[in-house]
Amino acid sequence: MSGKSPVVTSILDQLTALGHKKVVFCNDPDTGLKAIIAVHDTTLGPALGGTRMWNYSSEAEALEDVLRLSRTMTYKAAITGLNVGGGKAVIIGDSRKGKSEAMMRSYGRFIQNLNGEFITAEDVGTTTRDMEFIRMETKHVTGVPESIGGAGDPSIYTAKGVYLGIKACVKEVFGADMLAGKSVLVQGIGSVGEHLVELLRHENVEVFISDIDAERLQYVASKYKAKPVDADKIFTIDADIYAPCALGATVNDRTIPNMKFAIIAGSANNPLADEQRHGQMLMEKGILFAPDYLINAGGVINCYSELTGYGKKRTMQLTENIYEATRNVIQLSKKENISTILAANRIAEQRIADIKKIKSSY
Ligand code: NAD
Repeated sequence: MSGKSPVVTSILDQLTALGHKKVVFCNDPDTGLKAIIAVHDTTLGPALGGTRMWNYSSEAEALEDVLRLSRTMTYKAAITGLNVGGGKAVIIGDSRKGKSEAMMRSYGRFIQNLNGEFITAEDVGTTTRDMEFIRMETKHVTGVPESIGGAGDPSIYTAKGVYLGIKACVKEVFGADMLAGKSVLVQGIGSVGEHLVELLRHENVEVFISDIDAERLQYVASKYKAKPVDADKIFTIDADIYAPCALGATVNDRTIPNMKFAIIAGSANNPLADEQRHGQMLMEKGILFAPDYLINAGGVINCYSELTGYGKKRTMQLTENIYEATRNVIQLSKKENISTILAANRIAEQRIADIKKIKSSY
């Protein structure tokens, strides 16, 4: 999997280049719905992926986003051993003012017409309330509120997966997975970041935190005795581990040369601005990178549990597999002398190829 889309000319060329099975354009002028559903791969099961609502500047930008995100979902599900494929959807519009019950229910009907090939959940710009509206038209939706049988807040599981990913990396770099005495910089102390800070402080880790929300920064700092850092100074911090839990592309040409971290492991999607090049740069600099789509898979595992009827205990067990999966990625990366992100991609692709073979016999 490459972080960058190849230069292509037509929509169908883009699907071929990125390996997509199907893309559905949804247009309902009566409710104002304009959405794109991308089904990337269904070898392992129905395509599972969130619905993002975003004010894209163009349809081309929305398409590029949904193609990239749905592909990552295929890899995320495959490497964490889930029996679902990868998909994603985007609704074009302003999530603060452009939403209505009718729009969400109309969108639910488009999902229903896919007969279970795509199952959706919450993402940026959509809420459990939106999932409830979608549920009125189709059962192919997860992430509904706990009060109507949903699995609840995914960020606890996401944070746990990130914490275990950090542990697996610490074992590799420092010889044991004890975190006490280590230092971690958590960038972004929102839902996932705060849970992560709690887990780390529980193990006596020195935790530096940064957030653009000054009030939240002070709150989390005093609650967990973490050390606040100015957002523009974070790459001058001499911490063992950098946990990006805010936004993507923070690991780039500009930041890597200043980094003194031994490990990068966080929840933010696509922290490497260019997957291949920056993955390689980190390897050459001796910084161990835990692939984001693997260690932040707790949220998707939570949705998967809702679909399969698993309880919280099973969700946590599946999330705990992230430790071993991260160890496997590191081993393959060392054996093949490739970056950890390439190693993760290979493991995910291998599982899909293997399962494709067993499905060919009746
Ligand atoms: P959130 O919105 O609750 O928290 C994000 C935090 O980052 C906020 O407190 C925000 O103020 C802060 N932030 C934004 N820009 C910043 C900057 N430049 N510097 C420092 N802080 C900044 O989001 P979340 O649910 O905690 O998710 C965090 C990241 O993890 C996101 O990138 C998300 O896509 C990813 N992720 C989340 C989940 C999940 O279960 N919530 C699952 C997988 C991936």
